[in-house]
Amino acid sequence: MTKKMSGRFGSRYGKRIRQNVLKAKAKTNTLYKCPSCSRIAIKRLASGIWKCKKCDIKYASGAYEFKL
Ligand SMILES: [Zn+2]
Repeated sequence: MTKKMSGRFGSRYGKRIRQNVLKAKAKTNTLYKCPSCSRIAIKRLASGIWKCKKCDIKYASGAYEFKL
């Protein structure tokens, strides 16, 4: 009984994490608006590093989401 319950909790916890990873990954593929040239051209270079394709400025922001 105890074993079964902990197993069920584990799978639920795992599903939650998988959903978060999917959400985060979708955000990394999104282009964001550049505060400098106002164009939608900010792309994720690496974790926490974002770059505008138009004016080549690099920004330090969130690991999975661009925000200033
Ligand atoms: Zn720009």
